[in-house]
Amino acid sequence: MPPKLTLDRVKCSYHRPEGETVALTNISFTVSPGEFLAIIGPSGCGKSTLLSLICGLLSPDEGTILLDDSPIQSPGQQGRIGYMLQKDHLFEWRTILSNTFLGPELLHTLTPSAKKEISDMLATYGLGAFQHSRPSELSGGMRQRAALIRTLALKPELLLLDEPFSALDYQTRLSVCDDISAIIRNAGKTAILVTHDLSEAISIADRIIVLTRRPGRIKTIVPIHFSAESSSENSQAVRPLERRNLPEFSHYFNLLWKELQSDE
Ligand code: ADP
Ligand code: MG
Repeated sequence: MPPKLTLDRVKCSYHRPEGETVALTNISFTVSPGEFLAIIGPSGCGKSTLLSLICGLLSPDEGTILLDDSPIQSPGQQGRIGYMLQKDHLFEWRTILSNTFLGPELLHTLTPSAKKEISDMLATYGLGAFQHSRPSELSGGMRQRAALIRTLALKPELLLLDEPFSALDYQTRLSVCDDISAIIRNAGKTAILVTHDLSEAISIADRIIVLTRRPGRIKTIVPIHFSAESSSENSQAVRPLERRNLPEFSHYFNLLWKELQSDE
């Protein structure tokens, strides 16, 4: 199957009066359709920059980025790429339902059937009773789920997640990570999650890219494989919370921990 996303020798710098900061250099990788990729690396290594490049908010100085076979032309590629951030950016003056309508509204695709689909999605993911509530009436975890549904309402082919759980407390974070991974996998989306949390990456991803300190380069790419997932009755990825209890989890943790430490 041809890749959903291809990065080839991408370099990106920030230009300021004080001088140039090279944020990323020589970044090449592909993402397969339906794959869940995680990108980890120390703070400031260029993770958010990488997502901004993929979504077309920034242009690379060198190299190419292709979605399917075409270069990224406009930010978000008219809804083909969804971007979810650490802050949920829900609008307080809108209800949860009308927050999730926002994307299709802006793209003039908010048909009655689109409305029903979004409202059904809210119900499926436990927010049915909160459709008419304001964001401030929801818990942090529920707000993050609402933000994800708002992103999915545009039916993006590729989802970019920039530390989406880091504003949540630890316990909420574990369960929201579980919920969100299930939603994304059920929808069959291709996703890229950026995080500085090693355990989170191992619990959710099919493959992990480790970046070096700035300027970020690819240090290593580690495929994540749990034997419980290849047994005949369970070809699906097991949920993040379950993965944390499997014996391979600590193997990957030690492996990736060493990779990150050797960069110090
Ligand atoms: P991460 O998300 O991994 O923490 P970023 O992608 O936000 O890292 O930033 C990578 C590097 O680029 C950082 O060292 C940061 O200081 C620099 N940087 C980020 N945004 C800008 C900007 N708008 N102008 C100049 N430098 C920036
Ligand atoms: Mg960042």
